[in-house]
Amino acid sequence: MKYYSTNGKAPIADLHKAVVKGLAEDRGLYMPEEIKKLPKAFFDDIQDMKFQDIAYNVASAFFGEDVDLDALKDIVYDTLSFDCPVVEVKENIYSLELFHGPTLAFKDVGARFMARLLQYFIRQEANHQQVNVLVATSGDTGSAVANGFLGVEGIHVYVLYPKGKVSPIQECQFTTLGKNITAIEVDGVFDDCQALVKNAFMDEALNQHMKLTSANSINVARFLPQAFYYFNAYARMKALGKADQLVMCVPSGNFGNICAALFGHAMGLPIKRFIAANNANDVFYNYLQTGRYEPKASVQTLANAMDVGDPSNFARIYDLYGKSHERISSLISGATYSDDQIRETMRQCYLDTKYILDPHGACGYQALADGLQAGEVGVFCETAHPAKFKEKVDNILGIDVEIPDRLAAFMKGKKQSVPMTKDFSDFKAYLMKQ
Ligand SMILES: *Cc1c(COP(=O)(O)O)cnc(C)c1O
Repeated sequence: MKYYSTNGKAPIADLHKAVVKGLAEDRGLYMPEEIKKLPKAFFDDIQDMKFQDIAYNVASAFFGEDVDLDALKDIVYDTLSFDCPVVEVKENIYSLELFHGPTLAFKDVGARFMARLLQYFIRQEANHQQVNVLVATSGDTGSAVANGFLGVEGIHVYVLYPKGKVSPIQECQFTTLGKNITAIEVDGVFDDCQALVKNAFMDEALNQHMKLTSANSINVARFLPQAFYYFNAYARMKALGKADQLVMCVPSGNFGNICAALFGHAMGLPIKRFIAANNANDVFYNYLQTGRYEPKASVQTLANAMDVGDPSNFARIYDLYGKSHERISSLISGATYSDDQIRETMRQCYLDTKYILDPHGACGYQALADGLQAGEVGVFCETAHPAKFKEKVDNILGIDVEIPDRLAAFMKGKKQSVPMTKDFSDFKAYLMKQ
C-alpha cells in the first residue's frame, strides 16, 4: 500500500517510511491510497469472533501487503492482550470500555502496535541502527507510549513532561519503568516540552548524531489500530441483536480515535452514523454547523485529554470525504459540553444507573442521551478508567473510586527522571552525550 500526504506536496511513501517518519515532508498526514472493503462473510460471522481475531482481519486488510502475515498476527495478538467489552449503562446506551489496557488508556493499543511495527521495520534495515523516540506529554500519551515501547529492542524512548503538571498516577506510569524508557522532567509547561521535541527534529547536528522519530498520534501505525475497537463493538452489539441502527459516539480531542472509526466505516463497518463529543473545545462542532474550520487556542477543561484547539486529524477526515462539508456533516454530528454540564452528567448518570463515568466518557454518554433518535442504539467510548482521574471523580460524585491493581502497581515503583531546563541548548547537549 502506498501513502500520500494530505498536503499533496510530498513524495508518495510506503508503510515503512510512513511509520518511521510519522509526518510527511510537507507537514501533511499520511493517508493510504486505497481503503479495502472487508468481505460480507466477515461481517456475517463477526459476532462469533473474538477481539483478537477480528483485529487480525482488519489489520491484514490494512497492513497485509507490507507486513509478513505471521509477524502481523504476532503484533496484533501481542498488542491486544486484554478485552474491550460493551456494558449496558441505560436502555439503548452502551459503554464501550476502552480502558482495559496496560495503562488503562485506549492509547495503549496504538502505542504498542506502533512500537512493534517500528521494531519490525528497523529489523529489516541493513544497519539496525537504534531509533530514538521523542514524545512530549501532558500525561496520558506519555504513559501509553512508554508502556507500549517498554522492552522493545532497538528503540529508546524519551518522555518529556512538564514538572509538577501531571497527576501523580500519570507520572508514575512513565518515570518508574527504567530499561529503554527515560523520563525527562522539564522545568516548564507542556508547550515547552513540545517545543523541545520540535527543535530536536529540526536540529541537523542532532539528527546526524542519532536517529530520531516521534510517537505522535498522527502516525498511521498509532491511529489506525484504534479501528479494531469499533469492529469489536459492532460484533458485541450484533451478538446482542442490537446492531441494526448503531450510532457510535466518540469523545474527541485530536480526532485520531474517531478518525480510525471512520476508516472502519469506509471498510464497510455497518455503523449508521457517528457523533463526535467535545468538551468546551468546540472547533469541530463549529465546523459542522458553519462549514468553516477555524482553529483556536485550547481551553482547559475537566476532560483535559480532549483540550485541543486545532485537532491534527481533521486533515484526514476532511480528505477522507473529498473535503465535502455536506458528506462530513451528514455522517457525523457534534456535541459540546461545559465543565458544569460534564459534572452534572456524571452525577445524574451515577444516580440513575450507578455507572461511574470519567469526565471524557461523560461527554460521550451525554451526547447519546441528547441525540439518539427513535430506533437507534448508541455506543459511546469510555476512553479512560475513572480511577485515572480519581481526584476529580471522587470530588464530583462524593465516592472513593477503587484503584485497579494494575494502576496501583505503578505507584510502588521508584521515580527516576532527568531534570531539564526548557532551553533547547541544554536538551541538545544532553542528547549529544547519549
Ligand atoms: C486521548 C484521549 C481522548 C481523545 O482522543 P483523540 O484520539 O485525541 O480524539 C479522549 N479521552 C481520553 C481519556 C484520552 O486519553
